[in-house]
Amino acid sequence: MPLSSQELLDPLRGALAELLGELAPGDLQDCFFISNGTDAVEGAMKLARLYTGKPGFISCVRGFHGKSYGSLSLMGKGEYRLPFEPLLQDVYFVPFGDADAVESELEKAEAVGMSIAAVVAEPVQGEAGAIVPPDDFWPRLRKVCTRHGVLLIADEVQTGMGRTGKMFGVEHWDVVPDIMCLGKALGGGVMPLSAFMSTPEIWKVLEPNPFIHSSTFGGNPLACAAGIAAVNVTLEEDLPGQAAATGEYFLSELRRIQRRFPDHLVEVRGLGLLLGLEFVDAEFGYAVAAGLFKRGVLVAGTLLNAKTIRIEPALAIPRPVVDEVLEKLEDTLEELKE
Ligand code: PLP
Repeated sequence: MPLSSQELLDPLRGALAELLGELAPGDLQDCFFISNGTDAVEGAMKLARLYTGKPGFISCVRGFHGKSYGSLSLMGKGEYRLPFEPLLQDVYFVPFGDADAVESELEKAEAVGMSIAAVVAEPVQGEAGAIVPPDDFWPRLRKVCTRHGVLLIADEVQTGMGRTGKMFGVEHWDVVPDIMCLGKALGGGVMPLSAFMSTPEIWKVLEPNPFIHSSTFGGNPLACAAGIAAVNVTLEEDLPGQAAATGEYFLSELRRIQRRFPDHLVEVRGLGLLLGLEFVDAEFGYAVAAGLFKRGVLVAGTLLNAKTIRIEPALAIPRPVVDEVLEKLEDTLEELKE
């Protein structure tokens, strides 16, 4: 059967769920498989509402969680939201990395009787340009959410599967979220495969009517086979370890280059192989991206803007290729600073 029916459990789906349950932090053990990152966030939002019976969410300024209506409602960039307003109501925004702001938002909501289901954030903001939060952000989010009886959703669509140097981004701070979203590299970066995961306690709300959330292609055998293969390669080749080591080297070399061109390259940052370069303005950023492209290096802007460009190579990128990229970046900056 190329596509298992909704009534039968496909063995590959079960095997992948078991693998992820073993790898995920804490008792995040139950998985729902779908195809895109945005689907994972939609599912996480529905699960949070169903479990808490509350409508609201807190999200972060410049946060990125996808572009379907639910996830778009968590979008922290006005350009993407405005043409589609009104989106979901009851979404409140705080600056990324500011745990005090989250706490104050929850206190205000409580005081005026507004109900918040969950706080949603990326461990490291990806699309916003590899923004690493202060070290106390995630541990404090965990404490504040527990204290207020609000769920914590980690959107690991970009940071999961080793990208930041740990299997999951939240592991940098030993935090266990209540719901975790995965995508992108989960299917080896090739097959459309995403997931949201949670604890058996929270998952219970899906049991009375398992069809309350479903997807025709979600958890299909081909995608799950790719997911199992991706997990195996990630573990066998220690891709998180490679990303940590290569990322550290890459970042220290980028910092050296930044010191050479401080007027043009104003900041370099990141964690593992989720790296961001911030330039003096968007025009210069575009020129660098174009200069690198001319030299055979493809980087990512931050979709609407090239003031910050992202470098997100394959986690197994060989050191000589990193050196080649660094050389080409220096060469480009040398040419452009004139
Ligand atoms: N969440 C995060 C953190 C992302 O970076 C992305 C995509 O870049 C998404 C969700 C949406 O994923 P998709 O484009 O697969 O729908």
